[in-house]
Amino acid sequence: MSTAPPYADPMESVTVRVPAKVNLELAVGPVRADAYHELATVFHAVTLFDHVRVAAAAPGSGIALTISGEGATTLPVDSSNLAAQAVALLARHAGLSPDVAVHLEKGIPVAGGMAGGSADAAGALLACQVLWGLGTSRDDLMPLAAQLGSDVPFALHGGTAIGTGRGEHLTAVLARGELHWVFALAEGGLSTPAVYQQCDVLRGDLRIDPPQVSDMLMHGLRIGDAHTVAGALRNDLQPAAVSLRPGLARVLEAGSELGALAGIVSGSGPTCAFLARDGSHALDIAVALMSAGVCRTVKTAQGPAGGAKVVS
Ligand code: C5P
Repeated sequence: MSTAPPYADPMESVTVRVPAKVNLELAVGPVRADAYHELATVFHAVTLFDHVRVAAAAPGSGIALTISGEGATTLPVDSSNLAAQAVALLARHAGLSPDVAVHLEKGIPVAGGMAGGSADAAGALLACQVLWGLGTSRDDLMPLAAQLGSDVPFALHGGTAIGTGRGEHLTAVLARGELHWVFALAEGGLSTPAVYQQCDVLRGDLRIDPPQVSDMLMHGLRIGDAHTVAGALRNDLQPAAVSLRPGLARVLEAGSELGALAGIVSGSGPTCAFLARDGSHALDIAVALMSAGVCRTVKTAQGPAGGAKVVS
């Protein structure tokens, strides 16, 4: 649905801005007993944002969800939406009735491997925490965020951070300077569980070592050198995403032919992320990728971006 939220008293609404992410490294380890994969990943938040606005609604009215922006019509507005689940979870935790109008304004590609759904859940947690005056800190939201999904804690955290476990245990990374990105957006999305499953199929009986973050990537981030970071980009889900969407091979090839320092599938895809030297190089690559006609559209962005933040 792409209508405005039904309730808009500015005194009783809270808006949170929350970033997309790209995984600079996504090392996928063995499948665990709970069916998740052990990860060592480096999350990097970028300046593509969703906005989550929550407003108090009449007692007993429950959660009313509306969505606008690109891809909005493809998303559910019922209790299966992760943002609605976040509101319900926080309300239960606080012993409150979840009577709120929630509006999501999408700027993050839908089902694109950039954690848009997780961003909405993180934004909804923070927005309701403020709306309901819970007086707790952002850190208090972390266990609830982890319950909602592996990428949700990072959307609250932002910046650049190592994720371990299934991605929910975060350690901030010391990173200097900015990285400039071009994102090539595909037609349609990819399902994260399907991509992990395909990764297992492609690996077959191969013995998988415990995943580790590379020293070269940490070094590149510490010294703020885009070339070193480019040489260390790695995504173990990339072969799976490309095998499910063979056209991505052409997108990655085009990005490198057009001068990107490196290209990688973002998370579980199908968005492809290209690293540029600086802002103007990123613009050049974006224009050339669009002219090459290999993707639906392109977006440029910088990282690291801050985590979920109240903007009004
Ligand atoms: O945690 P989240 O609900 O976002 O994960 C979505 C799906 O991605 C999981 O159901 C699982 O299939 C896959 N996944 C995984 N290992 C992880 C994270 C996600 O297998 N560490």
